[in-house]
Amino acid sequence: MIRMDCDILVVGAGILGLSSAYHLKKLNPDKEVLTIDRVGGPGQGNSAKSEGGYRNLFSSDVNYLLAESTIEFMHYLDDELGYDFRMDQIGYLFLYSEEQLDAQKAALEKIERRGSEVRILEKRDLKEMIPELATDFKDDDETGLLSLEPVDCGVFGANCGSVDADALVRAYEAEYLRLGGDILYNVEAESLMLEPEMELGISGEPFVWQGVKIGGVRTSRGDIKAGKTVVAAGVWSERLLKPVGIDPYMRPKKRQIFTFRNTSLSRLFNVNGFNSQGVIPLTILPKASILFRPELSEGSIWLACADDYGRSFGLEDDPQAEEGYYTDNIYHVLVKYFSCFEGVRPANMWAGQYAVNSFDGQPVITGFEGMIYVGAASGSGIMKCDALGRIVAAKYEGRDEVELFGERTFTVSDLGIEKRKVESESLII
Ligand SMILES: Cc1cc2nc3c(=O)[nH]c(=O)nc-3n(C[C@H](O)[C@H](O)[C@H](O)COP(=O)(O)OP(=O)(O)OC[C@H]3O[C@@H](n4cnc5c(N)ncnc54)[C@H](O)[C@@H]3O)c2cc1C
Repeated sequence: MIRMDCDILVVGAGILGLSSAYHLKKLNPDKEVLTIDRVGGPGQGNSAKSEGGYRNLFSSDVNYLLAESTIEFMHYLDDELGYDFRMDQIGYLFLYSEEQLDAQKAALEKIERRGSEVRILEKRDLKEMIPELATDFKDDDETGLLSLEPVDCGVFGANCGSVDADALVRAYEAEYLRLGGDILYNVEAESLMLEPEMELGISGEPFVWQGVKIGGVRTSRGDIKAGKTVVAAGVWSERLLKPVGIDPYMRPKKRQIFTFRNTSLSRLFNVNGFNSQGVIPLTILPKASILFRPELSEGSIWLACADDYGRSFGLEDDPQAEEGYYTDNIYHVLVKYFSCFEGVRPANMWAGQYAVNSFDGQPVITGFEGMIYVGAASGSGIMKCDALGRIVAAKYEGRDEVELFGERTFTVSDLGIEKRKVESESLII
C-alpha cells in the first residue's frame, strides 16, 4: 500500500496530464506535485494513438490561440531544448470544390487578416504539383452514387504538420521530472474522495448540509490525499467524475488509423512546392472527412476518417480497428481521388477514442472545490496541449488570465462552463 499525500495530484499521464503537471510544478516549485497513471508509462491512453497532426489554420480565435502558442512551444522544445519528437512541418492541404471554398470565404479572410501563412491553390496548380490527384469525375453511376465533390482548389496552411505524439508526451515527462515532479505508474484512481469541507467525525459524512470538496483519490494501492486533484484521465475521466455527480462534458467515440507502405504510394513522397521535405502535406479530401499524411520516419501513409455519424458514443477500454471499415467504406472514395491507393491494403491499423465535446468541439477546463478537470479535447489535444497545461496551472493559482507561450494572453474562464466564451469553428475536419 502507498500513502503519498501531496499538494497537487494529477490523475492521468497523457499529454494533457503531463503538460498540466509540468506547468503546475514550474509555477509551484515548492509544492509536492504527484502524477499517477493506471498503466506502466506515459501517453499510453489515447495520446500515443493519435495521428499527431497539428495546425494553426482555424477560424475560431480560441482554436487559433491554443494551437498557435502550442506549436511555438513545440518548436522551442525541439530547437532550444533538443527534444526529438519529429516535428515535420509538412503543411495541411484542404481540398475543396468551388462551393466548399465559397462557404469558407469569411473564415479564410479572417485567417489572412491574422497574418497566418495560407495559400489558395487553383486546380491547375494542384494538378501540376500532385499528378496523382484526380480533380474531376466522369458523370457515371458510381460517381453519382458516391456523390463525389470535384476538386476545384486547395487551401494550404504552411505552419502545420505532424509530430510523434508519444515522443512529445515523453518530452513533457522528462521536463516535469527535471523540475522535481513525481510520477507513479501502475496506480489506478478508483474513485474521487468526496469529503466535507469541515469534517465532524460523524459516520455518514458528508451530509447534504455540509460543504463538500474533492480531497484526493482512492487508488488500487491506497488513498492519496491532495490539496488539489487535477483530473486529466482522458475519455476515462467520466468513470471518476460521474459517480460524484460532476459532468465531464464529453463523450468517447472511436477513431481509427490505417497505415500503408506500398511502392505505388512512393510518388506521394515526391511532391514539390509545399514543404522543404518535398512530400504531400497532410491532405483532407473534399468528401467523407478522409485525411492522410506521410509519416516520414518509416515512409508510410497514415490515414484517418472523421466518421461523426453512424458511430455510437461509448467508452471502450480496448477499441479495435476494423479493416472492413477501410475496405468497404473509405477505400471507394479514396481511390477516386488518389488512384495510387488502388489495391493497397493497410499494413497496420489501430483504434483509440476521441473525447468529444459535441456541443462546441472545444476543450473544457473547469473546477470544483479541491479539483480541476481538463479534457474534452475533441481530437485536438496534442496540438493544444501546451496552452491547456498553462491554463490548468493558472486556474490552480486562481488567476483570471494566463500568458500562453509567445506572450499571448488568454482568459481562463473562456474554457470553463459558467462564463464559457468560444466561437464555432468553420474549418472542421
Ligand atoms: C485515432 C486518433 C487520432 C488523433 N489525432 C489527433 C491529431 O492528429 N492531432 C491532435 O491534436 N489530436 C489528435 N487526437 C486526439 C488526442 O490524441 C487527444 O486529444 C489527447 O491524446 C488527449 O490527451 P489526454 O491526456 O486527455 O488523454 P490520454 O492520452 O488518453 O491520457 C489519459 C491517461 O489517463 C490514464 N487514466 C485513465 N483513467 C485513469 C485512472 N482511473 N487512474 C489513473 N490513470 C488513469 C490513462 O491510462 C491515460 O494514460 C487523436 C486521437 C485519436 C484517438
